[in-house]
Amino acid sequence: MTDTLTPILTKFWDDPQSWTLATYERHDGYKALTKALDMEPQAIIDAVKDSSIRGRGGAGFPTGMKWSFMSPPDGGPRYLVVNADESEPGTCKDVPLMMANPHALIEGVIIASYAIGCEHAFIYLRGEVVHVYRRLLRAVEEARAAGHLGTNVGGKGVTVDITVHAGAGAYICGEETALLDSLEGRRGQPRLKPPFPGAAGLYARPTSVNNVESIASVPGIILEGSDWFKGMGTEKSTGFGIFSLSGHVTNPGQFEAPLGITMRELIELAGGMRGGRKLKFWTPGGSSTPIFTDEHLDVPLDFDSVAAAGSMLGTRALQVFDETVSVVRAVARWTDFYAHESCGKCTPCREGTWWLRQIMNRIEAGQGTQDDIDKLVDICDNILGRSFCALGDAATSPITSAVQYFREEFEAGMHTPAHELFPPEKSVLF
Ligand code: NAD
Ligand code: SF4
Repeated sequence: MTDTLTPILTKFWDDPQSWTLATYERHDGYKALTKALDMEPQAIIDAVKDSSIRGRGGAGFPTGMKWSFMSPPDGGPRYLVVNADESEPGTCKDVPLMMANPHALIEGVIIASYAIGCEHAFIYLRGEVVHVYRRLLRAVEEARAAGHLGTNVGGKGVTVDITVHAGAGAYICGEETALLDSLEGRRGQPRLKPPFPGAAGLYARPTSVNNVESIASVPGIILEGSDWFKGMGTEKSTGFGIFSLSGHVTNPGQFEAPLGITMRELIELAGGMRGGRKLKFWTPGGSSTPIFTDEHLDVPLDFDSVAAAGSMLGTRALQVFDETVSVVRAVARWTDFYAHESCGKCTPCREGTWWLRQIMNRIEAGQGTQDDIDKLVDICDNILGRSFCALGDAATSPITSAVQYFREEFEAGMHTPAHELFPPEKSVLF
């Protein structure tokens, strides 16, 4: 079963001091940069386009296409901004990647910057992860001392430098334009798109905003070639990805595997369900994606198959819940989260998430009313597609899917509290 895994970014996470330049170089680190600097920038963009890698931050927009959509050079600055504001509930792939292998990201940033003509790249990091901030700062210093950053990268006269910026922990700052506002020193709120950042991003200049894992995958594509990358995954979801499994599995953690692997295979790789209990529901891509049940264990985890089955691959944050868990309670906690993180810019999300939260908490307490389920679905319907950014839509996904698969639990919330139906101590993990 373990040959299903494709450890590439995670290959040497267990090495002592895996995060140092010396370890990275022992594993062919910075060889891709040497190769890239001998290529024309357009050839690098073409290689990434040809690999068909789709963005690993959740939306799955093709990375090479995003780079080629940037406005043509006009002599002014152009920027690469790495979105390291990993905040989607259940998602834990970029933080461990940056802790264990920060140089893969830094090498990817340098190659991508050279390709798109950026001399100053930014890594926008979630503020709470101070340990990652320190690790990235140290790795950037190491790369600079080795001549990989500065005004003469690799002795080729190329200029690239990196600023690591820590945000303040707002979920909305993971939305790319809110992130740019925050980086510019303003309150992070989404901007109207278009213009997309490729036309007017940071300081209104052409900017590519890419996820950590997308950029960290670039050195491999350059060194090994796009055919190597396309040899993994499926036709339309090429390559590998880090799947983060959490919750009621025996060995939760990060599993790097080709896109298209199934949840059944991943649960087996994670040692099976904890205590041999039965799977009840799971999220394919964090709480922003409609939940799945045991009916969906054999859906290939690639962008199109998951969409065809009614959800989204998202960030591959596979949260596993067994039969001891109240779906109402889980969804109520996610709804609290979205109501708290709504930035307040648009009415459907600001007011709607607040309203959803009141109803979910009422049903969880066993005090729901006859029309609460219809009201929930109706409010979701009025948020979905009418909000300014993806957060509003995301807030509705767990609710509508949970009502679809577990309506009877919502109905029970009209007379019995969730903690009586599913005593929380039974689902405690440790
Ligand atoms: P989106 O589909 O609007 O955009 C995806 C990317 O493609 C963006 O960079 C956008 O600028 C670019 N793009 C889209 N259309 C374009 C065009 N016509 N021209 C040029 N560029 C174009 O999605 P989004 O709102 O950026 O992201 C939503 C996703 O974020 C969700 O699916 C969710 O999975 C994910 N998410 C991730 C986290 C996390 O922690 N990683 C947190 C919350 C949400
Ligand atoms: Fe802000 Fe929510 Fe509107 Fe997005 S959908 S702009 S988070 S209020």
